[in-house]
Amino acid sequence: MKHIVIIGNGISGVTAARHIRKNSAYQITIVSAETKYFFSRTALMYVYMGHMKFEHTQPYENWFWKKNRIELKEGYVNTINTNDKILLFSNGEQLAYDKLIIASGSKPNKFDWPGQDLDGVMGMYHKQDLEKLEKYAPNKSICKRAVIVGGGLIGIEFAEMLKSRDIPVTFLVRESSFWNGVLPNQESTMINEHIKQHDIDLRLETNLREIKSDKNGKVKSVIIDETGEEVCCDVVGLTAGVSPNIDFLKDSAIATRRGVLVNRFLETNIKDAIGDCAEQKGGGIGLRGAIESVWYTGRMMGETLAQTICGNRTEYKPGHWFNSAKFLDIEYQTYGWVFNEKKKKENQQYFQWRHSKDCKCITIAFDTNSHQFIGINTFGIRMRHEVFDRWLTQKRSIEYVLEHLIEANFDPEFYKLHESEIVEKFNKEHTTTIILTKKSWKTFFSKA
Ligand SMILES: Cc1cc2nc3c(=O)[nH]c(=O)nc-3n(C[C@H](O)[C@H](O)[C@H](O)COP(=O)(O)OP(=O)(O)OC[C@H]3O[C@@H](n4cnc5c(N)ncnc54)[C@H](O)[C@@H]3O)c2cc1C
Repeated sequence: MKHIVIIGNGISGVTAARHIRKNSAYQITIVSAETKYFFSRTALMYVYMGHMKFEHTQPYENWFWKKNRIELKEGYVNTINTNDKILLFSNGEQLAYDKLIIASGSKPNKFDWPGQDLDGVMGMYHKQDLEKLEKYAPNKSICKRAVIVGGGLIGIEFAEMLKSRDIPVTFLVRESSFWNGVLPNQESTMINEHIKQHDIDLRLETNLREIKSDKNGKVKSVIIDETGEEVCCDVVGLTAGVSPNIDFLKDSAIATRRGVLVNRFLETNIKDAIGDCAEQKGGGIGLRGAIESVWYTGRMMGETLAQTICGNRTEYKPGHWFNSAKFLDIEYQTYGWVFNEKKKKENQQYFQWRHSKDCKCITIAFDTNSHQFIGINTFGIRMRHEVFDRWLTQKRSIEYVLEHLIEANFDPEFYKLHESEIVEKFNKEHTTTIILTKKSWKTFFSKA
């Protein structure tokens, strides 16, 4: 019987295993150096914040794997001998495979900063990072200040985690405004304000020069590059992005660039690769990046590759882009494409609305000539994925989207609605007379 071995027990590897099991009787082994059982990486922060225990982040009961004949092997794969189809582990063990799936995920970026490997310095990616954080920042008397380096989605989660234990945070962000490489100015500015409202010492246009050690090899401070200022701290969080976790493939015959190079069927030059570690050889699909480091794409890749492995060769087609995240108290969702002003295409326009007091805003991108809806960012207003996905597929106009906006609203009952105000602003700016359809109000209230 064919033996499928999967390196990585994250969402990508586990989804592949589950779907291979659904469609075949192959022997399946999942290998991981991190934990025996699959857990939800996106929930790591809630463990530190006391909202859940680590066991609650495991979507499947421990008996699930045996029942479904999926073997779990703990260990770190050092090298792959693709000629003999053998994995070599760091403890000297070997494992033979017929078909290999590489789903090894990401690792936090480090930029050769002096002191980056000291005790008390960590990323926030693996379970081991969480354990380190518990050790070095259990409370505010042991950790008097933490410095976070890198202003992205993981950086802000890290700040929220520390603040949940009242630990003072200094947040070093290289850009002139938070995540403005991605967000339009309106949103990025609102997030800057929100971070400061949470008493986080946000330092924009600020780089790390060095992390200094005490006499025991533990971090005692960081030096700011621009000013030479020394900021005393007990923990440093490195959150300057992630990159594919593929160092162990360097000496193998598997082709890599930044990630494991794959075609549209997720096949490498020799084997298959999925998830955060995969890089599309011909560049990203549509406007997507060649490497996609998000949860749902890992899951989609797992499902797709399982089909191919079970004899139904299937192309990876991720559909319209979407993503969601949280910036402290503000929920963020994006559907389709809304870039920052620098990356905005010439033939595109933005319609923007921001609430006068609350941290709520939207940006809708549309084509200047055809008025075709291209994408939306929403902050503080929950919207329905399936509705925007449909409107993108149907190539609806911005006018249609605004007229029916209430249908997309997903806020809990009794939340204040802002659709009328949003439409009114568009009407004023564009001298249009869009009216929220009665039908859409009806749909909304029958759902509520
Ligand atoms: C704190 C945090 C919050 C996030 N929040 C969101 C979110 O809100 N929404 C979202 O879409 N995405 C989020 N992400 C990103 C998302 O979690 C990842 O895209 C996803 O988990 C990647 O899944 P994967 O299966 O490809 O890899 P991973 O989950 O990284 O799993 C790969 C596994 O392979 C193991 N491995 C690697 N190399 C070897 C080896 N040589 N030998 C043995 N084992 C090996 C690793 O240790 C790891 O356990 C978040 C990530 C983090 C860190």
